Amino acid sequence: MRLHSLLAAFFVCILLPLEALAMTQINSVRLWRAPDNTRLVFDLTGPVEHSVFTLSAPDRIVIDIKQTKLSAELKGLTGGNSPITQVRSGNREADELRIVLDISAQVTPKSFTLTPNQQYGHRLVVDLFDILPSSGANQSATAPISKPPTTAVTPKLSTLPTSSKRDIVVAIDAGHGGEDPGAIGPKGVREKDIVLKIAQELQRQINAEKGFRAELVRTGDYFIPLRRRTDIARKKGADLFVSIHADAAPRAAAFGASVFALSDSGATSETARWLADSENRSDLIGGAGNVKLDDKDAMLAGVLLDLSMTASLSSSLDVGQKVLSNMGRITPLHKKRVEQAGFMVLKSPDMPSILVETGFISNPNESTKLANRSHQQALARSIHSGIRQFFQQNPPPGSYVAWLRDSGKLAIGPREHVVRSGESVSLLAQRYQISPAQLRSANNLKSDALKIGQILTVPATTLAGQ
Ligand SMILES: [Zn+2]
Repeated sequence: MRLHSLLAAFFVCILLPLEALAMTQINSVRLWRAPDNTRLVFDLTGPVEHSVFTLSAPDRIVIDIKQTKLSAELKGLTGGNSPITQVRSGNREADELRIVLDISAQVTPKSFTLTPNQQYGHRLVVDLFDILPSSGANQSATAPISKPPTTAVTPKLSTLPTSSKRDIVVAIDAGHGGEDPGAIGPKGVREKDIVLKIAQELQRQINAEKGFRAELVRTGDYFIPLRRRTDIARKKGADLFVSIHADAAPRAAAFGASVFALSDSGATSETARWLADSENRSDLIGGAGNVKLDDKDAMLAGVLLDLSMTASLSSSLDVGQKVLSNMGRITPLHKKRVEQAGFMVLKSPDMPSILVETGFISNPNESTKLANRSHQQALARSIHSGIRQFFQQNPPPGSYVAWLRDSGKLAIGPREHVVRSGESVSLLAQRYQISPAQLRSANNLKSDALKIGQILTVPATTLAGQ
């Protein structure tokens, strides 16, 4: 015992000065540019103490890092959309590194360190947030929720111009990004790249359909913390949040697509729990820093959550099931029903939210398919069909699709029609936006003579004008 503690004391004595002498090295630097911020990531050989501050005239950011030596070239940090115009470095004191970033526009810096994970070692993250002009639409997102009542007369619904038939907004969230590659397939296929391609294709398809608008939550290769993703969707006025993933499982043989909705009372299956855990780890890998609920979020969490979670959850299950059954036509399914688990990204009480796992990237066969462009398009088409079916049945009030439905121009089918007096094949075909030939063949009609009370099958149709 005594000898042990003596030895221990001895080693502490000689190790501490050695440790103090050993300088941490910066081995590489990465830059990720997002639409509203720039992220610098310094790869370090150990933990560091640092400070970041701004200087003006000219604008610059100063990063001081103690006990650290720069072993990397600070290249690739300027140009493009980066606000950084020049990078300089030097030793402030013998053992303190100073990095100075000359910047072209004012930014708000935020920094934090990250401990090692599966992909990276110790990191220092410096986020430079763009300072947006203080007036204009960008500020509306931070405005108080309740506006004082105005004296303006609300126009009557019937007198609203055509343009008031608003688009249904679908927020498409490509998972992961930037520091967080997501799951990595056998040939180095990265989830973050695949899901962005599927998301972009889905956006293209949805935007081509009148009455719908798709907004991408992530538009490039950068990381967004999980909570920010639903915030972005909310600020874009989303009616639906769809998070796109392609995940990994411990078993390489696992395959098939699945759709998830939130559960507040545990996961419906072991896979669901496993996937929720691995998706929720994204913030640790991607570097969310210290994301805190702001006051509005806290209020939402407390009050709105209880009120509207049930409603949006049943909508989530509904749209999820429609997406899943459409996907089942083009790819094998992992589970035939929408699964539920505590996915962080689905915790949005005010909009239906689903998470689509397009397949297992850890499965060699599926990984190859997922990287294939025409398979990506087919996946997007099937997700799109599910979303369309959901909104045709549940159009938000005031939307173009609601107007189509209310004016009898939107038909969802197949369904039945009971013939009434004065109705003809051509009239019914016109009403349901199908051809008379379609109506005849769906009902094996040999002639156009209809009887009152006769039951006709109206074949499925899509939106008018398609
Ligand atoms: Zn994922």
